[in-house]
Amino acid sequence: MMTQRSTEQWRALDAAHHLHPFSDTKSLNEQGARVITHADGVYLWDSEGNKIIDGMAGLWCVNIGYGRKDLAEVAKNQMEELAYYNTFFKTTHPAVVELSTLLAEVAPEGFEHVFYTNSGSESVDTMIRMVRCYWDIKGQPQKKTLIGRWNGYHGSTIGGASLGGMSYMHEQGDLPIPGIVHVEQPWWYKHGKDMTPEEFGIQAARWVEDKILEVGPDKVAAFVGEPIQGAGGVIIPPSTYWPEIERICRKYDVLLVADEVICGFGRTGEWFGHERFGFTPDIFTTAKGLSSGYLPIGAVFVGPRVAEGLIAGGDFNHGFTYSGHPVAAAVARANVAALRDEGIVAAVKEDIGPYMQKRWREVFSQFEHVDDVRGIGLIQAFTLVKNKATRELFPNWGEIGTLCRDIFFKHNLIMRACGDHIVAAPPLVISKDEIEQLLATAAECLREFEQALK
Ligand code: PLP
Repeated sequence: MMTQRSTEQWRALDAAHHLHPFSDTKSLNEQGARVITHADGVYLWDSEGNKIIDGMAGLWCVNIGYGRKDLAEVAKNQMEELAYYNTFFKTTHPAVVELSTLLAEVAPEGFEHVFYTNSGSESVDTMIRMVRCYWDIKGQPQKKTLIGRWNGYHGSTIGGASLGGMSYMHEQGDLPIPGIVHVEQPWWYKHGKDMTPEEFGIQAARWVEDKILEVGPDKVAAFVGEPIQGAGGVIIPPSTYWPEIERICRKYDVLLVADEVICGFGRTGEWFGHERFGFTPDIFTTAKGLSSGYLPIGAVFVGPRVAEGLIAGGDFNHGFTYSGHPVAAAVARANVAALRDEGIVAAVKEDIGPYMQKRWREVFSQFEHVDDVRGIGLIQAFTLVKNKATRELFPNWGEIGTLCRDIFFKHNLIMRACGDHIVAAPPLVISKDEIEQLLATAAECLREFEQALK
């Protein structure tokens, strides 16, 4: 059992010893962290006894919901049987074999191989090394440049942060590293001007073609994108975008990579986001929903072309002490089996997802400063805008979003502000009543927010 302390004691110790990710430590410590003590379903409780609705599934990861005792049981049993062994040097173990077998079943046809990591960032870095290794094996060592997108998010390691297009991350630590370039994101609302979304989707894909031609097709290794940009603010590309990207990548013999760390494992109503958008990547990266956050694990899914190359190519000099960790693998397997066998992914497509989308649009479209109300499956967003008629955004991007997010937080609702995009991605097991509660609270908060703007 965890030592029982008061909120103030936890805050003081946290401030004394803990440097938080993506935080301004000084202001966090002045304010005091919110101490989350337990969770069940879609709810969290803090140390003050507040019940909070988690509209973000943690960090877009607790797909199966909190408090699944069956997953805890699986972890305990596996820990007792084989707490650890590695998968280097010609060894394996039943937990990782069973997980790989199940993943090959739920993945689209052709994705027979996975490489294990501990996080989304490690999946992305693994993919970068894999892509470059692939072109070496193919006798094209000059094909090393990767194309990412501005405002994309691919993690916090040096490779992931470089490939991502978050300028505030690039500013710290001299990123991006060489060999990584970016193109503009397919955000119709801002960049689409007078084009229809479909026309804009083609135009945004052609920016990738322009970049390939600028760098030189013989030097470009891969294009990498999230099927829906998540942390960038749930930027859903027009339907024409991904098919055109696929055509362009094939034309110039550039590998196509989908970063499915958020979209994977049912978030969009399909197992993987690229299935929703109708394209086939060569590789796709995952983490988060793979274990629903119960333990850290990620997986890179490798399609036939790259798998055959790597298998024929000899040693791949890459891996982590905990690649395919037995306890994480056993829990991930139980989680994925439950997402499938309990019909959770199917319900996102057929029932709860469409319900959320309909109600999300009905509730938020009426607000004066809310526009581009959007979503797919159980990932949705809207943008706070100054003027809906002219599609004018607020100045000081992100300031208004933070103000709004803080109002949600005060009312015990967690939704996230990505700049001035307000986003929600609740656990996939959310019920219709819980959706109504989330929407009613959010609407009340938005009224308070719009009042504050006057
Ligand atoms: N890729 C995408 C698309 C993500 O959204 C994230 C995290 O949000 C990552 C990679 C990094 O994952 P992690 O934080 O597990 O390293």
